[in-house]
Amino acid sequence: MKKIKFNVPPQTGREMEHIRGAIGSGRICGDGDYTKRCNEWIREHTGAAGAYLTTSCTQALEMAALMAGIEPGDEVILPSYTFVSTANAFALRGARLVFVDIRPDTNNIDETLIEDAITQRTKVIVPVHYAGVGCEMDTIMEIAERHNLLVVEDAAQGVCASYKGRALGSIGDYGCFSFHETKNYSMGEGGAILIRDPNKTDIAEIIREKGTDRSRFLRGQVDKYSWVSIGSSYLPSDINAAYLWPQLEDAQKINEQRLQSWNAYYQRLQPLQEKGLLELPQVPQECQHNAHMFYIKTADITERDALIRHLKEQGISAVFHYVPLHSAAAGKTYGRFCGEDRYTTKESQRLLRLPMYYGLTPEDLDFVTEQIDRFYRK
Ligand SMILES: *Cc1c(COP(=O)(O)O)cnc(C)c1O
Repeated sequence: MKKIKFNVPPQTGREMEHIRGAIGSGRICGDGDYTKRCNEWIREHTGAAGAYLTTSCTQALEMAALMAGIEPGDEVILPSYTFVSTANAFALRGARLVFVDIRPDTNNIDETLIEDAITQRTKVIVPVHYAGVGCEMDTIMEIAERHNLLVVEDAAQGVCASYKGRALGSIGDYGCFSFHETKNYSMGEGGAILIRDPNKTDIAEIIREKGTDRSRFLRGQVDKYSWVSIGSSYLPSDINAAYLWPQLEDAQKINEQRLQSWNAYYQRLQPLQEKGLLELPQVPQECQHNAHMFYIKTADITERDALIRHLKEQGISAVFHYVPLHSAAAGKTYGRFCGEDRYTTKESQRLLRLPMYYGLTPEDLDFVTEQIDRFYRK
């Protein structure tokens, strides 16, 4: 039987050539030639003042928590419907997590509920751009400004997506990308941190280089390097950056193909939505998404589980994700849910992700939608 995988990591075919290039350069530690090219590419395509590859989005988020100066007892506002790294990064610095409900249309944090969650101790708001569809950033930035809060965007899924023409990850104070192999562009494990304020790039370089001013030293701006702040090692080997580089070169091509698949899914499944059998994703006018994922929403968890089984029997792998963090053991220890959980749990139980990757063939996509059609005809 033919198997259709849920994800296949993106590749351009030129990865080996560049990995050889990195090794041939004789310098495979962090911040080599390929890392610089990737950093420059991200800056150019997002408008961020600084962009630095990291070893993961998890590490970019941890670095952002350090940059934000989180101290024990500070509060951080985030959705409960997200990956654990969004929460861990701040809990590791001693923050209390305050979970806010999501909007059922985008599964993003409900911006109208954020203000109720703000207290004297609040320091940061963390919007997560689910599926590469931007949160309502104008509202979130306005709330942050009025309350003197920082904004850290979890744009792990948002590379090459935008809100009102601005790249996701470049709107808040800090933005975090993922280049994990399940994301649109990959270096196996990897990520990047984006810095909006040009006055903060120096300290970002220091924190990323174990708290030393090694970057300035390498540029000849200081004659020796020393320990200037707390920090850690967040920079990846140049071999990983060499793997990522050709994908960034082909970013537009990869993005267009993913969007084609996304649109095809939408078209094929629209009749089922019209019959009220399932729901398709919604993308607000002001958002340009990047087809990071294609999900559908079933009536409830029972129907979703039956559909997963049906697809599995046909060799199709479809998955769901995010047990809401506030219902998990660590979520209860480190956080609390503010207000009513109207949608977080409900939507998390209805959502099903369909196979989506660069290289998904139209034939495979047809097969998946045919099988969904069949399920609902039964
Ligand atoms: C993938 C993901 C992360 C973690 O990314 P890594 O690069 O694997 O650390 C964090 N947040 C969200 C929303 C993600 O989807």
